Amino acid sequence: MNLVHDNWLQAVHMEGVALPIHPSSVANLDLSDLDAPRPDFQGAQYQFLIGLLQTAYAPADEDEWLKRWRTPPTTEELQAAFAPWADAFILNADGPAFMQDLQPTPEFRLRDIGELLIDQGSDINLYFGPASRQSGLCPACAATALFALQCNAPSGGVGHRVSMRGGGPLTTLIRPPEAPGRPAALWHKLWLNVMPKTAIRQRAGQQAGNERAAILPWLGPTRTSERKDGQTAPADGHPLQAYWGMPRRIRLDWTSTEAGRCSVCNAATDRLLRCFSTKNYGVNYLGWEHPLTPYYHDPKKKELPLSVKGQKGGIGYRHWLGLMLGNERQPEPAQVVRHYLAERWSALEHTGAPRLWVFGFDLDNAKARCWYDTTLPVHAVPPDRIDDFARAVRAMLEVAQEAAGLLRSHVKQAWFDRPKDHKDDPAVPQSFWQRTEGAFYAMLDDLQQQQALYGPSLAAVYSRWHAAVIEHTLRLFDQWAEGAYEQCADLKRVVDARADLEKWLRAAKPMKALRSEVQRHAKEAA
Ligand SMILES: [Zn+2]
Repeated sequence: MNLVHDNWLQAVHMEGVALPIHPSSVANLDLSDLDAPRPDFQGAQYQFLIGLLQTAYAPADEDEWLKRWRTPPTTEELQAAFAPWADAFILNADGPAFMQDLQPTPEFRLRDIGELLIDQGSDINLYFGPASRQSGLCPACAATALFALQCNAPSGGVGHRVSMRGGGPLTTLIRPPEAPGRPAALWHKLWLNVMPKTAIRQRAGQQAGNERAAILPWLGPTRTSERKDGQTAPADGHPLQAYWGMPRRIRLDWTSTEAGRCSVCNAATDRLLRCFSTKNYGVNYLGWEHPLTPYYHDPKKKELPLSVKGQKGGIGYRHWLGLMLGNERQPEPAQVVRHYLAERWSALEHTGAPRLWVFGFDLDNAKARCWYDTTLPVHAVPPDRIDDFARAVRAMLEVAQEAAGLLRSHVKQAWFDRPKDHKDDPAVPQSFWQRTEGAFYAMLDDLQQQQALYGPSLAAVYSRWHAAVIEHTLRLFDQWAEGAYEQCADLKRVVDARADLEKWLRAAKPMKALRSEVQRHAKEAA
């Protein structure tokens, strides 16, 4: 199977029907989306296509990008662009095969093909549909599972390397606006996340040797990592290898295929894959930054950048600043997001609001705890206002963070005589984040529309947000404390806890900072 030429992807037609396509059809404006059989496959196939476009069809600059945004290429044009790369995208070749080790050794051990799925053996299997006792994958699902594993690889025991971005990284992609009943085209969903050649950073020493193998590592012998110093730094590969990282040494086993139905997509195939073989000590990536993932950076520049991962409690508006704009003590948004804000947001006359699609596994070592998949509003501002905007949002997020913590501790005070003897209930702060989400995005709208991000107009937004936080927090306290009333708990304890909460909702440090700003402008106005 050739992943450039063959119809191995499922797409959705604007009229809602699903149909098989090959990658060169993605610029057909009648297609609205991909239709992968699992949510992690959907994320992986998007990244596969973005990687392919970035590698084989990257625009020279923003002008060329905009031209292709407005007038997408024909299928023939994309076919011609992909053709020189097609021989590297064969799944079942004897030599170099897509995302597989070039020179398997006798130590390679056979494994059940189901182990390519990251959630195999985890509780969240149910979420994706229970795996059958003996798995079988059709070639299309095997290709996607292989790519998804190499993209997200968790730590898997001694020498089984994590992905280039660590185990279970978050991926963030910009989504074009969609009007109700009028979905955006697949092409625009992909192309918005492809950067010009000039934006893919060039590093010294990267062009040595075979350039194609420096981009697509399976074309050359694997840079194995048995030795402690056997790492692969950005200087050891091409910057585009970020899209094609291959930390696991894997070879699909085509000798044991048979006819049957795929465990994931249920398609009938005469080449159902049952096994793959693998060995530890594959490529050990060090210091890479993936263009589609946000990173924490050490302000002292001593530590290497650390990718943002899926995390307990999910992705919500409290992550918005770090994923969208970045700011002190927040991660830096993915390169693709920064590029969009700096170069594209004002150049595109969007009708409607673009969104940020955030997805990834929450992994606990090799176990998948959860799959996160959500979109957040973009709320962009012109580049010269980004810093002021981010500063204001950070001040308001700090108030929210504080209020969530105050709610948690005061509900405990209401519930128990000796609150310190009891564990925190994560549902309590979670209820705060859920309840105030709408208010937060309304506040961003409000902030975005202000003429100035300082002085009285900023003070007015601060004041409205603080009032909303106090109101929601006290209401949630009452709801959570109700149980304590029913159990005839110490009513005085509940009343005291509420009074203390109300005091701190005004007096805690982040709240005070906001209020002093508001009062300063009240005084100036008077
Ligand atoms: Zn399948």
